[in-house]
Amino acid sequence: MKNMRFQMAAAVAASALWLGACGNSEQAVDTVETFANVTQDRLSNAAETPAEWLTYGGTYDEQRHSLLTQVNLETVGDLGVAWTYDLGTSRGVESTPIVVDGVMYVTSAWSIVYALDAKTGEELWVYDPGVNRAVGIKACCDVVNRGVAVWEGKIYLGVIDGRLEALDAKTGERIWSKVTVDQSKPYTITGAPRVVDGKVLIGNGGAELGVRGYLSAYDAESGDMTWRFYTVPNPEMLPDGAASDAAFEEIGNVTWGDTGAWKTDGGGGTVWDSIIYDEVNDAVIFGVGNGSPWNQSLRDPSGLDNLFLSSIVAVDAETGAYKWHFQTTPGDNWDYTATQTLILANLPLGEDGGDRRVVMQAPKNGFFYVLDAETGAFINGAGYVPQNWTTGLDENGRPVEVPEARYASTPFNQTPGPLGGHNWHPMAYNPEAKLAYIPAQEIPQAYSTDPRFAEHPTKWNTGADFSAGVPALVTSDVMKFLRSGLKGRLIAWDPVANAPRWTVEHDGPWNGGVLSTAGGVVFQGKLNGDFVAYDAASGDPLWSHDVKSGAASGPGTYEIDGEQYVTITTGWGSAFALAAGFAFDEKLGPAIGKVVTFKLGAEGEIEAPYVPEIDRTPNAEPFGTEAQLADGLVHYARNCTVCHGPFAVSSGVLPDLRWSTYTESADAWKAVVVDGTLQGAGMVSFADVLSEDDVEAIRAYVIQQAHNPADAVGGMQ
Ligand code: CA
Repeated sequence: MKNMRFQMAAAVAASALWLGACGNSEQAVDTVETFANVTQDRLSNAAETPAEWLTYGGTYDEQRHSLLTQVNLETVGDLGVAWTYDLGTSRGVESTPIVVDGVMYVTSAWSIVYALDAKTGEELWVYDPGVNRAVGIKACCDVVNRGVAVWEGKIYLGVIDGRLEALDAKTGERIWSKVTVDQSKPYTITGAPRVVDGKVLIGNGGAELGVRGYLSAYDAESGDMTWRFYTVPNPEMLPDGAASDAAFEEIGNVTWGDTGAWKTDGGGGTVWDSIIYDEVNDAVIFGVGNGSPWNQSLRDPSGLDNLFLSSIVAVDAETGAYKWHFQTTPGDNWDYTATQTLILANLPLGEDGGDRRVVMQAPKNGFFYVLDAETGAFINGAGYVPQNWTTGLDENGRPVEVPEARYASTPFNQTPGPLGGHNWHPMAYNPEAKLAYIPAQEIPQAYSTDPRFAEHPTKWNTGADFSAGVPALVTSDVMKFLRSGLKGRLIAWDPVANAPRWTVEHDGPWNGGVLSTAGGVVFQGKLNGDFVAYDAASGDPLWSHDVKSGAASGPGTYEIDGEQYVTITTGWGSAFALAAGFAFDEKLGPAIGKVVTFKLGAEGEIEAPYVPEIDRTPNAEPFGTEAQLADGLVHYARNCTVCHGPFAVSSGVLPDLRWSTYTESADAWKAVVVDGTLQGAGMVSFADVLSEDDVEAIRAYVIQQAHNPADAVGGMQ
């Protein structure tokens, strides 16, 4: 029934679309092939056809720089809302829309895909992969999705439960579906696939809970796997029969010890975001994530480098065979992923002052790197945010660590913390100005070895103690102090001078991805709901619009019938919103995510977010001994913080436990936390990690927090 309805809607909407699109389209519009009829030629020339946005990062080089100029320094002030589309979720939205042949393909939470008329926002079809909501517990950082890939009439989708699917671009009907992970393990997919020469590239996530990372290539037509490159060895250090075998035999296995939790925990190294294609060197270059568990003394007491954790790796696009790697953080100990935006460019860094093809990244660890794209050789690098875990980089780009940062015996208050100096929010690069625009932040965290570490296959396994330094009773002053330590900024980084050119300070972290245009404008959304245009050369603000929700994703731009559109997906949620709810502005509720699309002269309105009334009355009187409350704090920090917020203060994306009616009685609480009665809503049983006493201690702690005056300064609801 549902499909029928979508097909009919698609047919009606599609005919309306053609009326609108026939003015400028170079493709014949009356054949099926016009839906995402993307060939290798079109992908290779994407930069020269800026009317469309064909890949996650815009082009293979993923600079997120458009040659469109209608919206420019002079005109940008006239931007207004052309249309909005309701994504129907209050969970995190991180998607960059693909725009091809007049249609926008955009994703939302739970890996749902929407095909919209890019000119009007009219819905053509919706595809819901039907994910079991219990899978949500595997998602470290909300059930987000960053977008699709397009190729020869098909849409490629990574599903949060580990599937890779091909959809008919015209109807949204599923053509094939492949399970790319062992679904008994806590793998997830949030990243956008990429397509290179008929191969669909997809990675996965899960290294907070414990998995073994890899990147796979699948045949776009048949869905058969072509090659797989593992990023860490298997526990026996034996060949996998995979493209990575030779690399581990030659350079990888010797960087791992014989003992430690990596043998059972997977080791980590997930490829959860950045994957680019270097056409010049026919290489796929991808970013590798953190170790699992984070704490290296538990993961691998040998203290060796642990390849290819926290590395940028290049492989042959045809075979997946190893070409080179650069490890940003040897022996990762801090969730310092190198999965952040990778950008290819030509810079005047050749030996004779000529051009040199480089790859750039600002990974979590706080340093900006410029590498030779052909060899991976380190060219230059410097700290783009304050950091205190090293004294700098050596001549090969290797960080010179401060020994205390290993938090072997005492906690270390470190910056950047595990959310990084830069996270998934896409960086952009302007090849004329030769500036990279980094959505940077400062979110320090105290790292401490977890004395209670024991692995639990379906829960977080970091080996770091999230309760370290958390005061028993959080006062307003403590909340204000913690909030004041969180910073965010947009940095225009000069990769030749190896230094910032200009910086714009924001009022907090976790701001959005960046779009650069030849009109001399840089666009960035902020988590407070402002979508802002800056002068690309100076950072001066030119225009701003309140999009009435978090604006964290990467904006895009395209042109239809001679008009340039600028678009962004908005929404709450994702890792910071879940784990740091106390840090947010009261004005933003758990708003429904939207696609918000602007053009010059438009005057549309964005619907105000619906903020539900929450009864902020505690449902029970405080109880529990001091020891019980202290126990509750530890168990809460370990098991609940990452979704329900620190100090039991939620951002509102997931329930704020302080006001939950389940706190009313020990039996009701136990039914949820131990018996798993809300599993269908994503709240699975914690019986495997918590005793009934632990669960009751958490209830005592949550009720204490409900009676806590600290709420006056923080928390959405
Ligand atoms: Ca991580």
